[in-house]
Amino acid sequence: MQLTFTTSIQYMRGVGDTRAKALLRLGIRTVGDLLYHFPRAYEFRGNVKPLAVAENGETASFILTAATDVHNATLRRGMRISKLRAFDESGSCEIAFFNQPYIKDSIVKGGEYRFYGKLTREGRKNILSSPTAEPIIEGRPLAPLVAVYPLTTGVTHKFLAKLVSEAMSQLGENIPEILSDEIREKYGLCNITRALRAIHMPPDFKALESAKRRLIFEELYRFALGTGQSKPREATAPKLADRDISALTARLPYTLTGAQTRSITEISADLASGKPMRRLVSGDVGSGKTIVAAAAAYIAVKNGHQCAIMAPTEILAVQHYNELSPLLATLGIKTALLTGSVKGKARREVLTSLSDGTLGLLIGTHALIGDEVNFAKLGLVICDEQHRFGVGQREALLNKGGGDSCHQLTMSATPIPRTLALFLYGDLDMSKLDELPPGRQKVETFVVGESYRERLNNFIRKQKAEGHQTYVVCPSVEEKEDGALTQEDIRLFDFGYNIEEIIRPDSQIKAAVTWSQTLAESLPELNIGCVHGKMKPCEKDDIMGRFASGELDVLVSTTVIEVGVNVPNATLMIVENAERFGLSQLHQLRGRVGRGSAKSYCILVSDSKGDSAKSRLEVMKSTFDGFRIAEYDLGERGPGDFFASIDDEIRQHGELRFRLANLCEDMDLFEAAVYEAKGI
Ligand code: ADP
Ligand code: MG
Repeated sequence: MQLTFTTSIQYMRGVGDTRAKALLRLGIRTVGDLLYHFPRAYEFRGNVKPLAVAENGETASFILTAATDVHNATLRRGMRISKLRAFDESGSCEIAFFNQPYIKDSIVKGGEYRFYGKLTREGRKNILSSPTAEPIIEGRPLAPLVAVYPLTTGVTHKFLAKLVSEAMSQLGENIPEILSDEIREKYGLCNITRALRAIHMPPDFKALESAKRRLIFEELYRFALGTGQSKPREATAPKLADRDISALTARLPYTLTGAQTRSITEISADLASGKPMRRLVSGDVGSGKTIVAAAAAYIAVKNGHQCAIMAPTEILAVQHYNELSPLLATLGIKTALLTGSVKGKARREVLTSLSDGTLGLLIGTHALIGDEVNFAKLGLVICDEQHRFGVGQREALLNKGGGDSCHQLTMSATPIPRTLALFLYGDLDMSKLDELPPGRQKVETFVVGESYRERLNNFIRKQKAEGHQTYVVCPSVEEKEDGALTQEDIRLFDFGYNIEEIIRPDSQIKAAVTWSQTLAESLPELNIGCVHGKMKPCEKDDIMGRFASGELDVLVSTTVIEVGVNVPNATLMIVENAERFGLSQLHQLRGRVGRGSAKSYCILVSDSKGDSAKSRLEVMKSTFDGFRIAEYDLGERGPGDFFASIDDEIRQHGELRFRLANLCEDMDLFEAAVYEAKGI
């Protein structure tokens, strides 16, 4: 059978039901998926060393002749060891493999192999533990760079590599190319067949680099094509002509900032234009987006339409409701809340007043897109912190208001430079809230090292003594995809047969949970809670709620602390291992404090010795403008750092999961991909 790009992987030789299932865990369904399952690293096996020359602990290739056959033995339950001796002209060594008894079949006494692995030396004894072994065959040179794939139980490297090579040779040039000749020429990108061949089987570093460049471009380009609500050009939308919001502003205890007034003017002009509004309001934490949303809602209702505000979490929805409902009530507008927790009679009442039109504004979570939710006349949809919603959810809500002909406003709490906005949101019009309300105090920021630990703990006590609260944020550490040990893991641990040493790298959960326990020991008199991404939403909400109510003095968390959550009584933010965070992310975190009237502090704890890490953190001390910080991130460090500021949960479950683009530090390439995809 002739393989094509879309052929199910099951039709490949050697792939049965079990393997197909295992491959599926890696997201591989088709031959195309297989070819887009990129290596996560490469081993440089071109570095061949004689045994005597290698340093103790050096990882290298060794061309050795097997002096013995492989001898299998059981070390203890669940731990088998296979051993042999081998030599080259400079010396000899012992080679050991763990739990790979089948290695016996692939190494024979007298044969010559390239072993790649870490050499350790004990006295005069050389030991190679769990190296890879490739036979040396005349006329068939071994590749200098070898792909290391993300794996799962039941899928070995050898199997994957063979499958990939088989697929490449069967497909030949029959691989769909999404980049036009023109684009490829313009940016000097190689074609897809070459790129895929080189990413899996790089003949040298140069070919690998050019393959990566092309595939990163493609990845960003595809993503930019897929987002991008492009503005509906033909559609008409209700003309909301009455733009007067003076009754609303008169009821506020403050005057709007210049940026708020400008944004509201832009919004109301859109609403009155007769064309569907597609606008993004991007503004720093605390820049006052809620009132901008309220003004838009007010205009919609005033002109005889309903408005829906969708927030990503229940906490945020409730927060908006508590703030807006009393304000709008004084203007004769009825507001209701709809979340998963609104049940029974209360829920029926909301739904009825919604469909009979007595309700002006409905605020809620994605419960708003439920089938039973029917608006009498929905004219405006507002999504708060929208990158947490999938395209589908956004559209489902718009459709309740007639789809293209419904006005839409999107609020983003991340100050976004233009290129990124285009990339994430498509060609929406953009309003920037680049001015904070007056009198906002700056959060005093410090960068300190581990030697300050005791003083830090005292500082936490001091906040408590003054009736205030503290956030402590720990970095997330990438978790492995499943619990299975990979070849790589086994190679990672030193020769010493100590199975207990094979531990998973600290997981994100462990970092926060362990740290909260450590803190609890140092600060026994305080109430300390912990939240992380793997908790159930209700557990998370419970802890957040207890922190918000003041029951907890300290909240230890990963970066999941909800975007936009408002606990004005929290005055101290401590960020552990601050060098691991992007600046935009630190800025977001810092925005969690300084929300009340009391003086607030942000302390970045880092023992990093690197100059760039230090100077990066220093930026945080002097800069408080989110747009400038985002631009600094983007200019200095490429989009990778910016994406680090979008919390891990979203990256994992949402739309922002890239295979390669975290390698992308090439700003020009990123911009080119976005602009080509948007046809600009
Ligand atoms: P954001 O959603 O942009 O983070 P919010 O809308 O929650 O910010 O506003 C933060 C706080 O600032 C709220 O307490 C709000 O009442 C207040 N606020 C908003 N605009 C102004 C203003 N122009 N002057 C003074 N305070 C304001
Ligand atoms: Mg907000």
